[in-house]
Amino acid sequence: MDQTQPIQDLFANNRRWVAAMTQTDPEFFRKRARPAEPHFLFIGCSDSRVPADQLTGTTPGELFVHRNIANQVFTSDLNMLSVLQYAVEILKVENVIVCGHYGCAGVQAAADTAPLGLVDNWLGNIRNVMRLHRGELEAITDPAARLRRLVDLNVIEQVYNLSQTPVAQRAWRRGARLLLHGLVYELEEGLLKALALGIDAPEKAEALAHSNHHG
Ligand SMILES: [Zn+2]
Repeated sequence: MDQTQPIQDLFANNRRWVAAMTQTDPEFFRKRARPAEPHFLFIGCSDSRVPADQLTGTTPGELFVHRNIANQVFTSDLNMLSVLQYAVEILKVENVIVCGHYGCAGVQAAADTAPLGLVDNWLGNIRNVMRLHRGELEAITDPAARLRRLVDLNVIEQVYNLSQTPVAQRAWRRGARLLLHGLVYELEEGLLKALALGIDAPEKAEALAHSNHHG
């Protein structure tokens, strides 16, 4: 068997996609090859079932995307910070979205105790979220519901972390328009749900983090 067959399939899919897109709009690719002015930065999970552009119905050029396991925002992550800084300060993106999803294996792994290796270091942040909200989470008796709530709380915590980045702080200090949003994607229905919308000042981020601290 040809070991490159799975990759060959991707090329075949790609040619079919090009044919389909240009049939609907012969200028589709030429239009999108122009410098893009995306209006959104989407920070999502690496999970293959959460395709940022498809689930938001956007076409190439509309979304600037950063994905990592369990949609984390570490204020020490040079990769994420570079994407954020470029998006906000160079591309002038005004809307930054953190999008989590139910059924997130990263969040599940953080909630479990079985060691997975290097990824455990990455997931330590979610364990902090669990500790911060222990009371509320322990009060939820259904394990599936508890995990869903942890997914929500993880998103809210990452929105708060975004508000603490120098990029966001600088933008707000100079009076620039910068809105942070926390969303969650329901895998089984395909629907997006809002957890926090339009956080546009440090006080609002503080209030959001605070209103979700019941534990
Ligand atoms: Zn995930």
